[in-house]
Amino acid sequence: MEIEKGIKYFEEAIAACIEYCNSNLTEAGHSTIDIAYDIASDSSVGGTSSYNGEKYLIEINYGVLKKINDIYAILLHKNNESFYQKISLEQTFDDYKADFYLSLLVEESLKIVIFHELAHVLNGHLKYLYQNSSEKVNLNLINEDNNELEPLFSQALEMNADAFAATHCISMLTFPKSIYMRNEQCQGLIKNKSHAYLIFYIASGILFSELGMSNPRESKPLNELYYLPLRTRYDTMIRCSTNAYFKLNPEQSSDSEFLNHEFLREMSSNTELYHSMLRVKQGGSNLNFDIKNNIEEISEEYINHADEIFRYWSNTVREPLLKHTIFDLPK
Ligand SMILES: [Zn+2]
Repeated sequence: MEIEKGIKYFEEAIAACIEYCNSNLTEAGHSTIDIAYDIASDSSVGGTSSYNGEKYLIEINYGVLKKINDIYAILLHKNNESFYQKISLEQTFDDYKADFYLSLLVEESLKIVIFHELAHVLNGHLKYLYQNSSEKVNLNLINEDNNELEPLFSQALEMNADAFAATHCISMLTFPKSIYMRNEQCQGLIKNKSHAYLIFYIASGILFSELGMSNPRESKPLNELYYLPLRTRYDTMIRCSTNAYFKLNPEQSSDSEFLNHEFLREMSSNTELYHSMLRVKQGGSNLNFDIKNNIEEISEEYINHADEIFRYWSNTVREPLLKHTIFDLPK
């Protein structure tokens, strides 16, 4: 993707997600929220959001998503037929269709990042942070230096932002009219709702993989972290996305045979394998990159910790946020 074209595409995607959230607000009889946005060039995180007491700003980093675009350009090349088969549920590679899958996967990755940041705005996280911080200059959740929240509180907000992103992406992607419209552009692109889920699942897996799931990290005491470890975070996001899928599409209950958390957890290493295969192809990859790295982050201890954060959200975090949000917050 050329930079100019890419930036314009990013801006349109952000505007469309803001518009989507604002139309939900209007439909529920509320006024809309003014959210400014910008494209930044950082490539260590997907995006950031901030509030200065008057204005909200979300910034999406071109760097990470450009890399995601390049990854799919290689994964969806005809030399990697197995990835195409996995994503299309078809045996024979189709060049024309591969381009549509590339756009769709990049769009989903971008939406995960955008909706995550929008959650910090719309679910009252930034306003809460603003009220509870001593230094009131452009408060930004991702920045640990001016994050004055308790670590567990911060972990719960991040988890809520991931859940918001998963729910919105699944809602948009499995909406029958949206499936129909995509198939109008490219026949047979999305076979059915469970296929739409699969596309989200792979897009989120590659995104988290690119954010560094397999890079070696020092493990720190869970209660001191401001952000859940990446593998734990991905695991809870998948859990939230299947919950959203079945809640929004109750008629799909028979999909639970393979769209269940245990199975998807096993499968996620496959997605990472595609990513690591690609790093090897690109050469010059970090030699310490290994899908076994940080594997403790999906151990029982970490999963139990994530469960604890779910409870902490319900018991401690949700209530004080309510006065800063007009959206209903999950229990
Ligand atoms: Zn965040």
